[in-house]
Amino acid sequence: MPEGDTIKHLTTRLNAALSGHTILHAEFNVAKHATVDVDGHLIVEVVPRGKHILMRLEGPADERVTVHSHLRMDGMWELVQTSASWRPRRGFEVRAVIHTEPWTAVGRLLGELDVLPTADESRVVGHLGPDLLDDTFDRREAASRLLVDPARPIAEALLDQRNLAGLGNELVNEVLFLRGVWPWTQAGGVELDALLALALRLIRANSTRAIRSSTGDLRMGRRAYVFDRGGQQCRRCGSTIQVGETGTAPISRAAWWCPTCQTKC
Ligand SMILES: [Zn+2]
Repeated sequence: MPEGDTIKHLTTRLNAALSGHTILHAEFNVAKHATVDVDGHLIVEVVPRGKHILMRLEGPADERVTVHSHLRMDGMWELVQTSASWRPRRGFEVRAVIHTEPWTAVGRLLGELDVLPTADESRVVGHLGPDLLDDTFDRREAASRLLVDPARPIAEALLDQRNLAGLGNELVNEVLFLRGVWPWTQAGGVELDALLALALRLIRANSTRAIRSSTGDLRMGRRAYVFDRGGQQCRRCGSTIQVGETGTAPISRAAWWCPTCQTKC
């Protein structure tokens, strides 16, 4: 699942390949943007904002346009060489194709895709809280947003991108394990400063590599303490990892925890 670290890693690659290049041709296979024409625009930069991707363009008449995307569950951006006679393997999955020389960016199954004036970016990312992967991340601001509803279960509050941007379900579950916090603990009862410091370290360490690991071990099946490990043994104490649900339908998410290392309170 793409979380802020994945998006940071991806946008770094997209930015290196595309920024400074002119769009030879772009197609958006989304009804509302099918007629958008950004051919001849310069790609100024590709930057992350939480789990959102912002590709900023500059048109020949100095117009500033942003291609905004969000991968959601299955989306991806791929880079293929423009010189190759590239054809989508499964065309219906392709939402956007942006040709430059030498790279073409192909967006598949994007959960969100918008083309809008750069001045209006706040329409799509303005709701986000402080961004863990932004150098100016404001831990105090994130903590105060988490405390707006002090009775809310901490796992749910951390996933709410309005409180802080970047964390997904895997990192939330792993951070809570590492801090010994039961996922349903009320946000007001958690040492938020230490928890946010750890989340920051973990997401930044993972943003420079393609594989996410919270154990430090990059081998398959050894990368997580509790995430997706229901019924298996805790790596620290040997107890059986439990699985439950946080949030309320339709946005409930699975939660995993060790009943010994993460005490109920
Ligand atoms: Zn344990």
